Amino acid sequence: MKSHAKVVVIGGGVVGASVLYHLTKAGWKDVLLIERAELTSGSTWHAAGGMHTVNGDPNVAKLQQYTIELYKEIEKISGQSCGVHITGGIMLAGTRERLDWLKMAKARGRYLGMDLEIISVDEAAKLFPLLDKKHFAGAMYDPIEGHVDPYGVTHAYAKSAQIGGAEIVRHTRVTDLKPRADGSWDVITDHGNVHAEHVVNAGGLWAREVGRMVGIELPILAMEHQYLITGDMPELAGKKEQLHAIDFEGEIYIRQERGGMLMGTYERAGVPWSEVTTPWDFGQDLLPNDLERIAPSLEVGFAHFPALGAAGIKKVVNGPFTFAPDGNPLVGPIRGLKNFWVACGVMAGFSQGGGVGLALSRWMVDGDPGADIWGMDVARYGDWTTLAYTNAKVRENYSRRFRIRFPNEELPAARPLRTTPIYEKLQAEHAVFGDYCGLEHALWFAPTAQEAEDIVSFRRSNAHPHVAAECKAVQNSVGLIEISNYGKFEIRGPRTAEWLSHVMANHVPAVGRIALTPMLNERGKLIGDFTMCRVADDHVFLVGTYAAETYYMRWFERHMPASGVSVRPCAMEYVGLSIAGPHSRALLQSLVRDDLSTAAFPFMSFRRMEIGMVPGYVGRVSFTGDLGFEIWVTTDYQRALYDALVKAGREHGLKLFGGRALNAMRIEKSFGSWAREFRPIYGPFEAGLDRFVDFKKGEFIGRSAAAEEKDRGGALRLVTLQVEAADADAIGDEPIWHDGKVVGWVTSGAYGHRVGRSLALGYVPAALAKVDAGFEIEIIGERRKAQRLAGAAFDPSGKLMRT
Ligand SMILES: Cc1cc2nc3c(=O)[nH]c(=O)nc-3n(C[C@H](O)[C@H](O)[C@H](O)COP(=O)(O)OP(=O)(O)OC[C@H]3O[C@@H](n4cnc5c(N)ncnc54)[C@H](O)[C@@H]3O)c2cc1C
Repeated sequence: MKSHAKVVVIGGGVVGASVLYHLTKAGWKDVLLIERAELTSGSTWHAAGGMHTVNGDPNVAKLQQYTIELYKEIEKISGQSCGVHITGGIMLAGTRERLDWLKMAKARGRYLGMDLEIISVDEAAKLFPLLDKKHFAGAMYDPIEGHVDPYGVTHAYAKSAQIGGAEIVRHTRVTDLKPRADGSWDVITDHGNVHAEHVVNAGGLWAREVGRMVGIELPILAMEHQYLITGDMPELAGKKEQLHAIDFEGEIYIRQERGGMLMGTYERAGVPWSEVTTPWDFGQDLLPNDLERIAPSLEVGFAHFPALGAAGIKKVVNGPFTFAPDGNPLVGPIRGLKNFWVACGVMAGFSQGGGVGLALSRWMVDGDPGADIWGMDVARYGDWTTLAYTNAKVRENYSRRFRIRFPNEELPAARPLRTTPIYEKLQAEHAVFGDYCGLEHALWFAPTAQEAEDIVSFRRSNAHPHVAAECKAVQNSVGLIEISNYGKFEIRGPRTAEWLSHVMANHVPAVGRIALTPMLNERGKLIGDFTMCRVADDHVFLVGTYAAETYYMRWFERHMPASGVSVRPCAMEYVGLSIAGPHSRALLQSLVRDDLSTAAFPFMSFRRMEIGMVPGYVGRVSFTGDLGFEIWVTTDYQRALYDALVKAGREHGLKLFGGRALNAMRIEKSFGSWAREFRPIYGPFEAGLDRFVDFKKGEFIGRSAAAEEKDRGGALRLVTLQVEAADADAIGDEPIWHDGKVVGWVTSGAYGHRVGRSLALGYVPAALAKVDAGFEIEIIGERRKAQRLAGAAFDPSGKLMRT
């Protein structure tokens, strides 16, 4: 083994092999993969090898498409067959809800260029004669599904990488990792040490253990997974290979394996494997079968596909593989560790391995993943993902793998975990809570405790009239919402303004003022949107998206000067309440001595005040687009602040409102939101944030790319559409049609109660940005007419916020 390498990749499963190949493809030749046993010795070797393009996150779906297309390339380079069988696949719906879900998946596939088709049960039975029609309501056909040989794929990556200059060392275990002062690593193995500039943790089943070598606890857990192979079936003899099938009601997947069928299940009573530590002596081993555990699914499977029941079971495989709490991979650099990268938690290595390798190699070589991979960025998780939290969420995710997640469905596992001091007070007001980064936050308020429950649906739900009442209260009197679930950062030091001006696209506001700003990467794409509140010359209170706290901190720390400024994430030290609506000023004025008139405290002002007895920051902003105030206090004061506002609010018609109403109102105002309208695939001009990019202030990150976007005009435009919806509104990811063609996609949608219209925000080609008519949005399989609005649906001039 060589003693120095630019990169050491730990782990020779399908993911590590893909990373290695992609690094060589990107031009880094001095790369070394270290594998403890033979290649494929983790979960890879006993995988069922199934692959598909459909994924809930369109950006992950794109990387899955890429993976499947890649197999031809690595077969050609390596001469190693991947055993690719593209059979096509069907997803079977047993209920109307599932058929709706498939229609939505098909619609989403449209703008990704996927050729998905909704078919009848009769058509499904023609394509997949093993099914018993009486159990199904319809199906979706996908021509690009199939399976591969896990051994073949891993070795094809590995050989292609070796041809590209990589070295692979087997039967060598990495036992420790020691950082050097310059950011490089000493990789300690049981066969000598390697000095590496970069280390990639692709340890699969042992990724947690490799993480612990550098002091991190990665939120992943392995679950036992079983599939069986039937005896040879006369029904298959002499026939074309059967399609892949997913039967959602049975929670099973099926495909042909030689003369029989392979059937696997994500059972509800899933069992984790090695919950705390993965044994190093686990090799190409299988776990004992437990057919009883999967018996309920098998029973349904044998009823839905009777020939399988008659075929008998030839073989059962029970093997572990890892999941993150949301089931998506963990990819990218780790905040706080130089040159340490992860590519793990990949639960669908044969659909995602190629995309993961591509994104990570670009990130390492070019400094940017080159695609929007927020959905699999390791930085989407933070401190709340303790071992027990991960355990609860992974079990839940596994058991729900084939279940529908409705847009208004909140999942129960690991809750309540984090609560703010007013949690019980909101509970007493019949709040229906949601979970955001493990933190409970009110979504809406029901009139009685009995009604405080979401009835899940793709259509307008039981919450609709109550959310309407909350929006009306904000419109006509005043509403109060907890905003503790925003991210907060304190920036301090003499170089605060200079540094912020460098990392943010807008100028830093004067003391006592607020400025909104996008944050751009070097390619001029949006990687954040913030509210900068200037407390003092050397102190800015920065508000952004809490879910992206680690993501932002990773970026901030990368761009931090040696001295003169510090950034401290302080999300849970400050909790917030916001009041909005025409009576909000009178309400707050009754509690503060400061003059809140527009002359004395205009829109976008920020000041330290005493609210009753409570010291806090008050900003004159609102995400609802009304006259409104955001109040930030340290956690110990939140109850007192809440009580004071509620008591004083009685005579002003105060009503509590929750996240659903806030979302609807910000859409009425065409206000974008991180991870929806603002993502690293859009530029600030495309996103309509041009007024917050200040070219006059001098150099800042992404300036030249943003200037180029401005000159060229950008390819896309964020538009607001008014939709002729029936009983379902857009929720996001629906295709936007124009003149019979799919031209764009929805990023958010909701019913705008203040304006009495169904609304959607979405991106269309810039050439269509001024066209008003001819749009349609596909909502649950139906194309609904939509009209572009020239401005926001609610108070387009912004007068209400300012007066
Ligand atoms: C029963 C079953 C069925 C499955 N079916 C499918 C399917 O149909 N389709 C699909 O896409 N996926 C399927 N999977 C999941 C798939 O197997 C995983 O997504 C994939 O194997 C993950 O690969 P990996 O490289 O991340 O991890 P692993 O395969 O676990 O590889 C990690 C490698 O790292 C090595 N390693 C770890 N630590 C060290 C160290 N310190 N030093 C040196 N080497 C180290 C290990 O020896 C191992 O070889 C299935 C899994 C199972 C168990």
